[in-house]
Amino acid sequence: MKVGILGGGQLGSMLALAGYPLGLRFRFLEPLRPAPVDGLGEVVRASYDDPPSVRRFAQGLDVVTYEFENVPDTTAQLLEELLPVYPASVALRTAQDRLAEKRAFASLGIPTPAFHPVDSRPALEEAIGRVALPAVLKTRRFGYDGKGQVVIESPARVDAAWEALRGGPEQPLLLESFVPFTRELSIVGVRSRAGEVAFYPLVENEHRGGILYLTQAPAPVVTDALAVRAQEYLRALMEAMGYVGVLTLELFQKGHELLANEMAPRVHNSGHWTQDGARTSQFENHLRAVCGLPLGSTESLGYAGMVNLIGRLPAIDALLRIPGVRLHLYDKEPRPGRKLGHVNVLADDPTGVRATLERVDALLG
Ligand code: AMP
Repeated sequence: MKVGILGGGQLGSMLALAGYPLGLRFRFLEPLRPAPVDGLGEVVRASYDDPPSVRRFAQGLDVVTYEFENVPDTTAQLLEELLPVYPASVALRTAQDRLAEKRAFASLGIPTPAFHPVDSRPALEEAIGRVALPAVLKTRRFGYDGKGQVVIESPARVDAAWEALRGGPEQPLLLESFVPFTRELSIVGVRSRAGEVAFYPLVENEHRGGILYLTQAPAPVVTDALAVRAQEYLRALMEAMGYVGVLTLELFQKGHELLANEMAPRVHNSGHWTQDGARTSQFENHLRAVCGLPLGSTESLGYAGMVNLIGRLPAIDALLRIPGVRLHLYDKEPRPGRKLGHVNVLADDPTGVRATLERVDALLG
């Protein structure tokens, strides 16, 4: 089968690397040069919103999926007229808009932080009246890695937050209550074309400067009740959207509560550990799902951890000398705040994972 992937970043390259052993071949639509997928398949170098290029990209493909979620909705819909696209554009549309996303969670009974849309300065005052401070003001669209959001601690900070995001009809915003969470968790699940569903274990995520830094899989100290609840939320979302592929749900844990923060309709950074720590990686399972193949086992091979290499690379030989370390580089130019690669760690017990993660962390400085 020939698979088309919208986007040519590291997620696309890891999808292709997982798909070649299954006999799959790839074509990417990616406007930028260079791109991590260069050399891993045909690259149609064009904008996502140029219909003739999108049609050229689609020619001869069996299925289309994406690794980048800010693809214009009209592009996903145009492709849907031409060939199977998974996940369907409804999932993309919902995940692209933080308001639609939170409403989708709420409609399925999935708890979220209190939220209220904001499209003008007076609407911000009204939203504060409903949500209360401290709160987080976020752009509804195009936010990632902590960009497009400002915490409002007190009334004195409201003007600055409004100025920072400059909301209005062109830039709709959302106000959310600030959650004093115990920790951040996420769950990656996959649903096949036949409706088969599988989950990876709930993992714990640590962010630095709004960017994911570390994932521990499974998350330490998870009760069965919590794990089951996370799976139920993700299952409900997948079934409601008739979802096909990998879907990730990011959650805040606050005591015994789980609150949904956001979902990603694609393979996710908090699932990268599955490349070395699960029987079937999230990348292979996403491809199996969208290509109509049976899903692979999501069973863990032990205890795993993942550390992102952000902004600059450490000495590679020193990193590779640490036993149990698996390196994945994205072939990207170093730049502050940019994800350049990640390290996966696998051990027989959580202590072993922590010890190795500490050695990696020390090397990263
Ligand atoms: P997001 O882009 O929504 O995933 O937010 C990035 C990070 O900001 C999250 O991983 C949290 O660490 C933090 N954050 C976002 N929303 C909230 C919230 N409502 N309360 C507390 N922290 C938040």
